[in-house]
Amino acid sequence: MTLAARDKQVIWHPFTPQKNMPSPIAITHGKGTLLFDEQNNSYIDAISSWWVTLHGHAHPYIAERLHQQALRLEQVIFAGFTHEPAVALAERLLQILPSNFSKIFYSDNGSTSTEVALKMAIQYWWNQQSVAGSRLPVSRTKILAFTNAYHGDTFGAMSVSDRSVFTLAFHELLFEVVFIDVPDEHNIENIKTIITQQHENIAAFIYEPLVQGAGGIKMYDATWMNDLLQFVQSKDIICIADEVMTGFGRTGKLFASEYMACTPDIICLSKGLTGGTMALGVTACSNKIYNAYVQDDKLKTFFHGHSFTANPLACTAALASLDLLLKEECLQQIPWIAAQHQHFLQQLYTKKNIKNVRCLGTIIAFEITEGADEYLNNISNVITQQCLQEGIYLRPLGNTVYIMPPYCITAEELNKVYAVINKLVS
Ligand SMILES: *Cc1c(COP(=O)(O)O)cnc(C)c1O
Repeated sequence: MTLAARDKQVIWHPFTPQKNMPSPIAITHGKGTLLFDEQNNSYIDAISSWWVTLHGHAHPYIAERLHQQALRLEQVIFAGFTHEPAVALAERLLQILPSNFSKIFYSDNGSTSTEVALKMAIQYWWNQQSVAGSRLPVSRTKILAFTNAYHGDTFGAMSVSDRSVFTLAFHELLFEVVFIDVPDEHNIENIKTIITQQHENIAAFIYEPLVQGAGGIKMYDATWMNDLLQFVQSKDIICIADEVMTGFGRTGKLFASEYMACTPDIICLSKGLTGGTMALGVTACSNKIYNAYVQDDKLKTFFHGHSFTANPLACTAALASLDLLLKEECLQQIPWIAAQHQHFLQQLYTKKNIKNVRCLGTIIAFEITEGADEYLNNISNVITQQCLQEGIYLRPLGNTVYIMPPYCITAEELNKVYAVINKLVS
């Protein structure tokens, strides 16, 4: 039996309609930007395997560090114990995060990192307002979020995400959220009015800075966002930057939050954190948030953690990835990719069957003007199949085509991706 046939017997794939599901492609190995299947066909991974891979697949340096760590310590409980990889990673992250950040909380993936951030922010207010053992009503319990947002698949993360096909079956079970549109010159005053009316009930504001990923790689302006962040913070609302996708260089800066002068109180990281090698989530917070938990009252403890919190192998992969990311070689690749994209952008502007061409850092996106602007637009499958035949892996979100390559992509590979897209659009 082929691997694909064995898969069909036992596997349920994510985000995949199960009826008439096309056979999955069995990948045997990867190297650099390339993925190889059972027939040894190769595919350029132009979306970094769901936005996680930074330095290419099966990177020998990360693999070697993991091997050494696995022989030393693979896992240990993280309550009452600690270990070198967790401490070293926290130290290094705090060096590159905004200077008001002081603590790192570990979890397992992007959804848990946002879930942790929401709980941290909500309990921040509970810790302020509740008196030992009492159940005084806490006024600030609501979350402010953007329409079109995506923050993950667990219930809290779903609640603060846009009500969409992803959440349709669960709407009645999701908690109430104050949704606002991403800011621009036309709506900013209106947004401020909404916030002014409700701010006394709002605990926190969660947002994907400058690029809304799963919502369709939608980009928005840093100037108005900075204005909004300043306003939100003037109302004492905790700002949570979900940098799960934008972190580690994707937008051209190490973190997208660096495009705004106003710094958040909490930052969520995952995806590129380990270079895409292992699952790991980080929720980093400022001293202001952390201090609300330094209390005599034990009920004010943050009662949250996962079995694999701060897994030593995952932390080691993240340390190795940071070594590679902060090398001159990689730091030069990021603006180089951005410049290539800008060049390609000019070509795309001349095409007729596409619209909304946009780019930020290493991410470029546009919509195909065929069918509706929605995730279920079947053009996605058509494009994926066509590209695979050409040796490229793209996975449009509905009719939104985008490239988000690993930073190690070569000029030849990137040009091949552009050429295949050029053939697709007219
Ligand atoms: C992918 C993503 C998440 C969820 O991360 P998972 O690791 O898939 O749970 C959360 N927020 C943003 C912005 C993301 O892009």
